[in-house]
Amino acid sequence: MKLVRYEHNGRSPQVGLVVEERVIDLSGVVPSMHALIALSADGLAVIQQHAETGQSIPLDEVKLCAPLQPRRNVMCLGKNYADHAREMQAANDEPIELPKFPVIFTKATTSVSGPNDPIPFDLQVSTDIDWEVELAVIIAKQGKNIPAEQAMEYVFGYTVLNDVTARDLQRQGKQFFKGKSLDGSCPIGPWIVTADELPNPHNLNVRCLVNDIEKQASNTRNMIFDIPTTIAYLSRGMTLLPGDIIATGTPDGVGAARTPPEFLRPGDVLTSIVEGVGELRNVVTAV
Ligand code: MG
Repeated sequence: MKLVRYEHNGRSPQVGLVVEERVIDLSGVVPSMHALIALSADGLAVIQQHAETGQSIPLDEVKLCAPLQPRRNVMCLGKNYADHAREMQAANDEPIELPKFPVIFTKATTSVSGPNDPIPFDLQVSTDIDWEVELAVIIAKQGKNIPAEQAMEYVFGYTVLNDVTARDLQRQGKQFFKGKSLDGSCPIGPWIVTADELPNPHNLNVRCLVNDIEKQASNTRNMIFDIPTTIAYLSRGMTLLPGDIIATGTPDGVGAARTPPEFLRPGDVLTSIVEGVGELRNVVTAV
């Protein structure tokens, strides 16, 4: 299933199911995406049945919102593609060294935005706004000390995420949080694809384009720490909750590692694509 949150006719965001080019309204069935994620397998079967009878609206007549507004920070992997780890270390004159353990940081809940929302650009805040396309995992159920062999049972689904980064802020304090958490710096969507539709999330092409010019092109098979390893690591001694979002890291080709470095400017169109999941299109907009 492709699950969305959408606005239509001025109503606050509703939950819907996308079938072909139409959105089926699920607001009479579940009040929120969090409620939908909490449903049992039987509950999800009811949603699927609803697809045949529910009222529908053409997809191009709705405004898609972030499919999920997380309750706590988005958890992210840094340096989880070897080529990206190397390009950043080279750009920062650091020794080339691949991580031995997952590198985890977070993005504020307030950074999360929709698949077509503008990326705010404020010269007073940052001049070095960069792109990082990523596959994101949505956690299905509460778990702690999850063995890697069982970790995929904890995956509800997947979405596309761009871990938009203010590199100048990221460098200032040597901590990622501030530079990763500006408003609108975490577009996600356009929907959550449920895990059953993507039996192998470790062989998906991942691409990022700026003004239709390809900047990043890789495949999720190149992740250093795969999804089960990441879930097992994160959940060790730390409870994961339903609706948690985990961004699995970005491949090489980010702006900061280019010669000369490239950053986004107002008017730039950022396209983020994960094969089998979907596409984001966000325009950088001066504020
Ligand atoms: Mg990232």
